Amino acid sequence: MSIAENLQAIKSKLPAHVKLVAVSKFKPAADIMEAYNAGHKIFGENRVQEMVDKQQALPADIEWHMIGHLQTNKVKYMAGFVHLVHGVDSFKLLQEIDRQAQKVGRVQNCLLQMHIAQEETKFGFSREEVLGMLASDDFAALQNIAVCGLMGMASLTEDSGQVRNEFKSLRLFFDELKTGYFVNNTAFAEMSMGMSGDYKIAIDEGSTIIRVGSSIFGGR
Ligand SMILES: *Cc1c(COP(=O)(O)O)cnc(C)c1O
Repeated sequence: MSIAENLQAIKSKLPAHVKLVAVSKFKPAADIMEAYNAGHKIFGENRVQEMVDKQQALPADIEWHMIGHLQTNKVKYMAGFVHLVHGVDSFKLLQEIDRQAQKVGRVQNCLLQMHIAQEETKFGFSREEVLGMLASDDFAALQNIAVCGLMGMASLTEDSGQVRNEFKSLRLFFDELKTGYFVNNTAFAEMSMGMSGDYKIAIDEGSTIIRVGSSIFGGR
């Protein structure tokens, strides 16, 4: 199937409240244009340099999402245009995002990446780290970031029960923050969870943003 057909097949089954980020990492601009010409305008990349190059070459109305692990020294290159930063996993990174957003006069939308998988290698905050950060004066001082929700990646496993439980744990923590710390904050509304292999389970468990690459663009 073509990129346009793959997109159509996925979108036709998505609930209205779920946004699709088409993950175009490692794929050429021509592939992105094929999706764009089919009406899709939200793309995700996991490397800053690649996203910046594509942003400069492609239509200005594309909404770019940074979904990958971020180094603080790269934040400045995307601060002027990135729509949502999914992978915020340290206070130091959040501070740098705030600093760079201030320089360009923006409020940067961010998601806090939570460590929900069993695997050691997946990045992300623990619950305790987030609760500690949110309670700190240093966090309260940040003026140019908006925490829009949480992001998580489930374990890479055939065990769909485990994947479901990991997404459930993200959902429970989201609800806890939503009814606690963020109770009067309408911006805190998103849960970015689900990729090609597990987005249906993620949607069942309350995902509002899915990040799908290979099911749209083919293998990498
Ligand atoms: C690559 C990537 C995806 C998309 O993965 P697919 O399995 O190709 O859908 C989603 N999220 C993150 C963080 C990624 O790095």
